[in-house]
Amino acid sequence: MSLFRRIEERGHESVTFFSDPANRLRMIVAVHNTVMGPSLGGCRLWPYAGLDEALTDVLRLSRAMTYKATMAGLPFGGGKSVVITDPKRDKNEALLLAIGRAVNGLGGRYIVAEDVGITEADMGVIGRTTSFLAGRSTADGGSGDPSEATAIGVFGGMKACLRQISEEPTLKGRTVAIQGLGKVGTFLARMAAEEGAKLFVSDIDSDRLEGAVTELGAHSVMPEEIHLMTCDIFAPCALGGVLNEKTVPALNCRIVAGCANNQLADDVDGDALFSRGILYAPDYVINAGGLINLSYEHGGYQRERALAHVRRIPDTLKEIFQRARAESAPPHRMADRIVEERLAEARERRSAG
Ligand code: NAD
Repeated sequence: MSLFRRIEERGHESVTFFSDPANRLRMIVAVHNTVMGPSLGGCRLWPYAGLDEALTDVLRLSRAMTYKATMAGLPFGGGKSVVITDPKRDKNEALLLAIGRAVNGLGGRYIVAEDVGITEADMGVIGRTTSFLAGRSTADGGSGDPSEATAIGVFGGMKACLRQISEEPTLKGRTVAIQGLGKVGTFLARMAAEEGAKLFVSDIDSDRLEGAVTELGAHSVMPEEIHLMTCDIFAPCALGGVLNEKTVPALNCRIVAGCANNQLADDVDGDALFSRGILYAPDYVINAGGLINLSYEHGGYQRERALAHVRRIPDTLKEIFQRARAESAPPHRMADRIVEERLAEARERRSAG
């Protein structure tokens, strides 16, 4: 497929290639949509096998950012950047400064944030060559690590899901199976345990697993079995693509609600969940807490204002579930439709005035 066809296919506005051989920079910035505001999204440093793989990733990720930001009601659009490099071997100050210069060259159409391969400290270096940046450390007046905000949103989202299926929207006495005890999963496990949930947990990192067993009284489960557990809520908090043609028929839960990005391997897997009567909280809706938190850096970060917005995620889910039920549609399809309606309205307003 031609390059333009690939860009047009998912409605991207622009794709810019940056090359700075002296600093070993090969970077692609994809701006998917700026109807709601400048595009915001992380910069991923990854040893892509080639240009094609990097381009596919940046096109997919930037579009997902548009959906997440629009659904969360943020004044930002969707963008993302990827740098073809092995961060463990080749990340250095010169490369980070070059990334900042590239972002700066886009004049604010794209605001860069942290992603795989970039740390909070790296953001400080990138911030020396561009001010179009979000995700500074708290020491630098920024919003810092987004994981707790993400977990707060997911925890509230779980309750919104419970409210759909029962009179008692509490985790007390419920069974929750958490796949992945990383930064978000650990916060989430603590919140759920504090409210009296019984926990099944899995992680490929045995230290993390032991920590949760000792600290929270959780039951540890083999990674390949966590989705099979009989539970109220299955919470994917590790990888993408966990809800697929193999796992969906094997689930023994009533709700899927977790923080992982791209949980559905394909939209048809969301349809399969719907057919099985399992309530799915669309990933980009329930896991938007980190992005919401980050977006509040612009104009002076105030944690309480940011978290107040994060705590509205359950209301957003409720609206999606209600419309989905009214139209007998699966929630993931309804969420996409709501975003697309909002974007179309905003586009019309913009062209009208
Ligand atoms: P993390 O890297 O801190 O944690 C991921 C955890 O999953 C690790 O402990 C890892 O060992 C574990 N893991 C990997 N493979 C596994 C497997 N097969 N089974 C069980 N555990 C496995 O990442 P995180 O920041 O906690 O994010 C988790 C997910 O949520 C990712 O998909 C991320 O993209 C998404 N997300 C994170 C945020 C955030 O604020 N951090 C925001 C939105 C979405």
